[in-house]
Amino acid sequence: MIYDLKCKCGEVSEHVFGMNEADGAGQCPACGERVTRKDNRVPSTFNIAGCHSAGKPVPNYSGYYDEALDTWITSKQHRQDEMDRRGLVPYEPNPTLKRISDENAYIRRNSNSGDLEAAGAIKQNHKAADKFRKNTIRDSIVDKAIDGIKKEQS
Ligand SMILES: [Zn+2]
Repeated sequence: MIYDLKCKCGEVSEHVFGMNEADGAGQCPACGERVTRKDNRVPSTFNIAGCHSAGKPVPNYSGYYDEALDTWITSKQHRQDEMDRRGLVPYEPNPTLKRISDENAYIRRNSNSGDLEAAGAIKQNHKAADKFRKNTIRDSIVDKAIDGIKKEQS
């Protein structure tokens, strides 16, 4: 698995260690200082397309180890296939809740911290989100109950 290790000189370099190599160490390519998996690890900047988020392409990108899937993933399509095979669905926020949270983020960005009107609007949105969640849960309970009755009758 690939680890991004950040040297004290600021250089972030990639090092490959086995899952059990907790005390793995390498050398900073910029200054030659020793970097270790334990002390220098920073969140990986890899994404599925094989590019660094900073826009620096990775030559000979061969994939990454997905801990949740316990599989070496080589592409976005491969990840989708592995998820399908396991019957997993990627988490997607409910559109209504997402809209409310986007709106709150927008209000926060465009208001001052002491803005009472903005604070009130955010509070209203939180209430609306709570109500929506409760209704959604209630609806699913009702749906299940109705399904149960239908099955008994058939
Ligand atoms: Zn260094």
